Amino acid sequence: MKNIAIIGAGMAGVTAARTLEKAGHAVQIFEKSRGAGGRMSTRESSCGSFDHGTQYFTIRDPRFEKAINEVPGTTEICRPWSTNAVRVLDELGRVIEAAMPPREKHFVAVPGMSSLLTHWIKPLVDLGRVHYNSQVMCIESVQTGHNPNNAQSMTWTVHAQQGERVLPFSNFDAVLFAVPNPQCRALIEHSTLQKLIHTELLSSLHAIKHQIDVVTTDPCWTLMVGYPQASQPGISHLGPQWNAAKSTHHRISWLARESSKPGKSHIERWTVQAGTKWSREHLEDDPARVKAKLMRAFSELTGIRVEPTHSAVHRWRYAKTQTPLGQPYLWTQEARVGTCGDWHIGHRVEDAFISGLSLALRIAEA
Ligand SMILES: Cc1cc2nc3c(=O)[nH]c(=O)nc-3n(C[C@H](O)[C@H](O)[C@H](O)COP(=O)(O)OP(=O)(O)OC[C@H]3O[C@@H](n4cnc5c(N)ncnc54)[C@H](O)[C@@H]3O)c2cc1C
Repeated sequence: MKNIAIIGAGMAGVTAARTLEKAGHAVQIFEKSRGAGGRMSTRESSCGSFDHGTQYFTIRDPRFEKAINEVPGTTEICRPWSTNAVRVLDELGRVIEAAMPPREKHFVAVPGMSSLLTHWIKPLVDLGRVHYNSQVMCIESVQTGHNPNNAQSMTWTVHAQQGERVLPFSNFDAVLFAVPNPQCRALIEHSTLQKLIHTELLSSLHAIKHQIDVVTTDPCWTLMVGYPQASQPGISHLGPQWNAAKSTHHRISWLARESSKPGKSHIERWTVQAGTKWSREHLEDDPARVKAKLMRAFSELTGIRVEPTHSAVHRWRYAKTQTPLGQPYLWTQEARVGTCGDWHIGHRVEDAFISGLSLALRIAEA
């Protein structure tokens, strides 16, 4: 049995953790937020919840399908969301293509997207293996054997910020980074600057860092709006008849009526994603300005001109992989350090799952 630290409780980290626990290892997960989910998270508001990251996921890979079907309680959480109604809109909100051809099913987690990983991580939370509100700042190697030249006699210490303090968590045989590529690179870089990294391990960490350099990721500004005033007797909803649309608008690429998703309350609310180019150009803009611009574009596309009761924006700095690494994980046996996450092979939930699973299986068979 090995002690393994996993940094990040998104789909990749949670999948790796579950797989390694099942294989008989002892894992500890460090997550900077107060819950699991990462980009599959759900934002609560006075109008109800918003899936402001992942909109839906597919179940194409048989290994993902197996996990959905076999982890007890998961099929009750994952429900198909009818996106037959997806339209394609032009700049003025005119429908230029009607329903997309019915293809595979699109799934959401109920009551919110974060429910899936909250469910999958629960056994580890119950075992006391999950540290929330714990942002890992760096890792350091510690010599445990008598031979200072033997990298295999080293263990890893994870330094995590909890509130005002940075605390050490020691004695890990391996560390897995399950965070977006820029954060992964920064963490590794910061760790290599620490004095306590064994020289042999340093070169392994540098090699990982160089491989990550080829990966590129785009941001996404997201707008959330809620209209409780639409839930009055005689009024079922505001605006268009459709529930989800892709658009060629220069600001907005996707919009969906949250209240049309299974398990969600009926208060009319929308999640709106800005396009990649626009998000990149406005990445550092003031959130209030971004909100005003996206609100205007939303009105143009939907015809909804009423002021929302609730409105908020969220900036996903590392939303979508543009150039993936091209292999499902990185692992160095000398340093016993690995990386996983969607950015290794793609930009979707299933990619994160496959990456976390593949890395864990590699370690389990070592
Ligand atoms: C706006 C948006 C829309 C999307 N839409 C879809 C969609 O419709 N369908 C689809 O399949 N996919 C979609 N995706 C992509 C999908 O969300 C990701 O592919 C998947 O969730 C990535 O999982 P992950 O585990 O690789 O990373 P993440 O979910 O990013 O998890 C990484 C975790 O690491 C934590 N972390 C980071 N740094 C540290 C640190 N130093 N210490 C501790 N913890 C740390 C983060 O808080 C996070 O919880 C969307 C993403 C976004 C942003």
